[in-house]
Amino acid sequence: MKHLITAGFLVCLTVAFISGGVLAQAGEPIQADNNATYELPPLPFPLEALEPIISDDTLSFHYGKHHRGYVDNLNKLVAGTELAGLPLEEIIIQTAGKPDKAAIFNNAAQAWNHTFYWQCLTPGGSVIPAALEAKIQESFGSVEACKKELSAAAVSQFGSGWAWLVLDEGKLKVIKTANADTPLTKGMKPLLTIDVWEHAYYLDYQNRRQEHVNYIIDKLLNWEFAAANLEK
Ligand code: FE
Repeated sequence: MKHLITAGFLVCLTVAFISGGVLAQAGEPIQADNNATYELPPLPFPLEALEPIISDDTLSFHYGKHHRGYVDNLNKLVAGTELAGLPLEEIIIQTAGKPDKAAIFNNAAQAWNHTFYWQCLTPGGSVIPAALEAKIQESFGSVEACKKELSAAAVSQFGSGWAWLVLDEGKLKVIKTANADTPLTKGMKPLLTIDVWEHAYYLDYQNRRQEHVNYIIDKLLNWEFAAANLEK
């Protein structure tokens, strides 16, 4: 059995998958299958679509090597275990904080985080839908204050990690996570993220993380995706 890794928030796969020659419908429970393999989902845009902010070269490595590497590693690590065939979100929840499962957690979470991240970007960016804008104003005071907090989190994350806009107990918050860690393990609903691992920007910006982050916030964020996540 093969299925695509999706990054919807704590939902089962949103795509149909093939099981024993039968086309299962999206949202149906997934049976564990020790031969299951996860697949790298397609990028939601062409490799050159985010230029000049993110180059074709960066995206080729980031998606084609790094993201693919996490998916390939995950397949090797879960093959023949009780985790094979579970939805990716379930693997993340089950392995979080367990030292003997750290490699599986790291690769599963990085696979999920990257699939989510690509959907947070869109060529030219997007306007902020009204319902999300109202929620941002309620939580941060203004859209500018929210963007400033997101930028500060992304820039101040020491070493590798992620900056996130999340819904936590009814309120929007900005948080940062280290390495592969994800809000999914903290009971928070992720709305948007920015990857601040050096592989995300070093070819284009070298050490200028701040510049990269600000361009992403100003020019590439997909607020419609964030609004859709808020509604889930
Ligand atoms: Fe990355």
